[in-house]
Amino acid sequence: MELACLDLEGVLIPEIWIDFAERTGIDALRATTRDIPDYDVLMKQRLRLLDENGLKIQDIHKVIDDMSPLPGASEFLDWLRERFQVIILSDTFYEFSAPLMRQLGWPTLFCHKLEVDSAGRVVDYKLRQKNPKQKSVEAFQSLNYRVIAAGDSYNDTTMLGAAEEGILFHAPKNVIEEFPQFKTVDTFADLKQAFIDASVRELTV
Ligand SMILES: [Mg+2]
Repeated sequence: MELACLDLEGVLIPEIWIDFAERTGIDALRATTRDIPDYDVLMKQRLRLLDENGLKIQDIHKVIDDMSPLPGASEFLDWLRERFQVIILSDTFYEFSAPLMRQLGWPTLFCHKLEVDSAGRVVDYKLRQKNPKQKSVEAFQSLNYRVIAAGDSYNDTTMLGAAEEGILFHAPKNVIEEFPQFKTVDTFADLKQAFIDASVRELTV
């Protein structure tokens, strides 16, 4: 049995925090782990900025409601789900991604959770576990699944390494150069072909 594991941001949808920063005009929310490598420090800063700007979960959803999946992403995901069981492994939060997951037809998503109080204020965040993408792939393998995984960035490389086949999609040059062991593609047409090539079954586009 084969399973397809996909990263979410940068593969199917835009980078939510960057898009959110642009739509709200809160420039400091553009910071990513490239600027602040300690994820806990980064998330605490993000939550503080949401609070300082009076953004409750309802306001956040309104902003994210206007975002769309990347062009071609929905069609690609439908194609993939006809051929594989698909699980999305992401470092996003259910509360952020919900409006975009609705547009993608609610595929299965394993990610993290925000803590929201009764007034809608985001008070904390809960990471499901450490290194969740790799851990998920290993868990699926323990269930006798052969895993083909695709992602775009550093936080995907342990998932790609653990999978039987790992594919870099839309990856920046530095990631491609640092991880030459992974196949690299840039379009959904090529990503479809990469999944077909990685499968042990006879599939067609
Ligand atoms: Mg990504």
